[in-house]
Amino acid sequence: MQKPGHGQTWPEAPTIERVRHSLRRRNLSVEAVERLTPHMLRITLSGADMADFTSVAPDDHIKIFFPGANGGEVRRDYTPRKFNPETGTLVLDFVDHQAGPAATWAQNAKVGDRLEIGGPKGSRIIAGEVAHWLLVGDETALPAIGRWVESLPAQADVTTLVAVPGVEDQQEFATAAAHDAYWVHRPTELADQAQAIVAALGHVPIEVGTFVWVGAEAHVASAVRHYLLEVRCVPVQWVRASGYWIMGRPGATVPDMEVMEALG
Ligand SMILES: Cc1cc2nc3c(=O)[nH]c(=O)nc-3n(C[C@H](O)[C@H](O)[C@H](O)COP(=O)(O)OP(=O)(O)OC[C@H]3O[C@@H](n4cnc5c(N)ncnc54)[C@H](O)[C@@H]3O)c2cc1C
Repeated sequence: MQKPGHGQTWPEAPTIERVRHSLRRRNLSVEAVERLTPHMLRITLSGADMADFTSVAPDDHIKIFFPGANGGEVRRDYTPRKFNPETGTLVLDFVDHQAGPAATWAQNAKVGDRLEIGGPKGSRIIAGEVAHWLLVGDETALPAIGRWVESLPAQADVTTLVAVPGVEDQQEFATAAAHDAYWVHRPTELADQAQAIVAALGHVPIEVGTFVWVGAEAHVASAVRHYLLEVRCVPVQWVRASGYWIMGRPGATVPDMEVMEALG
């Protein structure tokens, strides 16, 4: 197996620039609902509130607000898959999983329904020389990974490795870049088990100068990050891993894997 860190010098890591956006709530209406794949619903929203919407990084997220118990509110994070401020449209892809206010809302969404969103609050832009990209995730990261792959220029090369329930949940992305796509199939109930995705990563070459991005269920994101650092010797500055959700813990995320240990 290739161990890029062994005896090889990595170039200086790219810097991550934080850009802040003015934060405001937007009230949008459902314009279209489409079943993209068996486990993914694509919902197009529109409204005059979209006029000044900004999202500059593929792994940006918005907050969606849902009514909670006792007049409260619950919030969930979603990726702006596509947006067009001129036509005032925003496309969100929702994983169709068993329970939870966001998944339930998407399953029942009809044209004309309203949705309140906030953000993105900010974007993290990866700036500097990146020769190769490796994007790893589960179905919740497909919107970010798809947007990322589609945005890369012809001189870029990108490898994606995504875990989904089955072959019919795979997606194709149009891109100018050279793109190698690897898929892992596992049932949703095993979405917090990292063995299959780590085993598949063993077959993925990681060249010096590869920026690796990981977005998945938090235990998987943590295990993948650990494998990249310890087994493949990717320097820590070249890896960014986030826990997009936590099995059995509604609304929980781990924006930065370094704090995973604190969760217990
Ligand atoms: C930065 C960021 C961007 C994200 N972008 C997207 C996106 O574009 N599309 C998307 O679908 N998700 C995305 N997610 C993940 C999404 O926010 C979570 O899956 C969220 O928990 C879903 O909320 P819910 O109300 O449906 O379920 P919750 O109320 O949060 O959870 C209810 C139960 O379902 C489980 N659960 C949550 N998500 C899943 C899942 N995907 N599969 C199986 N079980 C699950 C929970 O563990 C819990 O037991 C993103 C997360 C982050 C942090």
